[in-house]
Amino acid sequence: MNIGFLGLGNMGGPMAQNLLKAGHAVLAFDLSKDALQAAHEAGAALAAKPQELAEAGLDIVFTMLPAAQHVRSVYLGEDGLLAHGNGDTLYVDCSTIDPHTAREVAGTAAEKGITLIDAPVSGGTKGAAEGTLTFMVGGPQNAFEQAKTVLKDMGKNIVHCGDTGNGQVAKVANNMLLAISMIGVAEAMNLGVNLGMDAETLASIINTSSGRCWSSEINNPYPGALEGVPASRGYTGGFGSALMLKDLGLALEAAQQVEAPVLLGGLAKQMYQQLCNQGHSKLDFSAIMKLYQQE
Ligand code: NAD
Repeated sequence: MNIGFLGLGNMGGPMAQNLLKAGHAVLAFDLSKDALQAAHEAGAALAAKPQELAEAGLDIVFTMLPAAQHVRSVYLGEDGLLAHGNGDTLYVDCSTIDPHTAREVAGTAAEKGITLIDAPVSGGTKGAAEGTLTFMVGGPQNAFEQAKTVLKDMGKNIVHCGDTGNGQVAKVANNMLLAISMIGVAEAMNLGVNLGMDAETLASIINTSSGRCWSSEINNPYPGALEGVPASRGYTGGFGSALMLKDLGLALEAAQQVEAPVLLGGLAKQMYQQLCNQGHSKLDFSAIMKLYQQE
């Protein structure tokens, strides 16, 4: 297929490369010259501005941008995709943004006869590189089916979450829970070790008991409890605390719009804010352990 890819950062770069590996023709754009150079070396054709992607008559254009303001400017700006595009191209935004913005931008697209669906991902940079991402897709069924034929070249689980914006809903709800469960595991591990338990033994008990979850079993935050995880290498690699803080902000903003109580989500956001303020924003989010182990 003829595909456009805009936003070739830590996630978008390897995703575009997987499309090339699968045999698609990719026309790429990014503001960063280095990102463009890497895409070019991987076999992508380069666009000089976003509108070239809109005017090239492509089958699908993917966007993978940092935050809502970038998505707004790329789609709604004067030189943006919607001003120059038409309904022959399907647009798929894989950025993590708030559901409200996703619905608003897709609504503006629909007024111009253009379909824009949301397809945020989980799986991190490893999943992007290995083509094993989970895509949470919000939008009409036929657009989902069309996107799926290509999303499968970048991911393993491609789930239709319902109407436009619901991909972002699934993403923010999951990540809020992930933050809360990570904090819960950090608190319980710290309690057990302070009361005299060996961390590895405590982790193995939790992981065969009712406290078991992803944060205890796959990414335990207590140093030495599991091998090969960020906690056992100074919290390097993994999913950055700044990104978790961003996702918690999105969850709280979305909760406010529907007046849903997010008591633990609010507390989790404050804790991640504190961790980032202490200079740990680049560490894996399991570094929340540091709030329990003040020197
Ligand atoms: P990134 O900052 O590495 O990449 C973003 C890219 O977008 C950069 O190359 C930047 O130059 C480009 N860009 C910004 N504004 C642009 C514009 N107007 N036109 C063209 N290009 C523009 O970010 P990332 O880590 O790739 O994350 C992208 C999205 O994926 C974010 O919404 C993030 O929350 C989400 N996400 C990231 C991870 C992760 O582990 N990194 C995991 C899941 C989801």
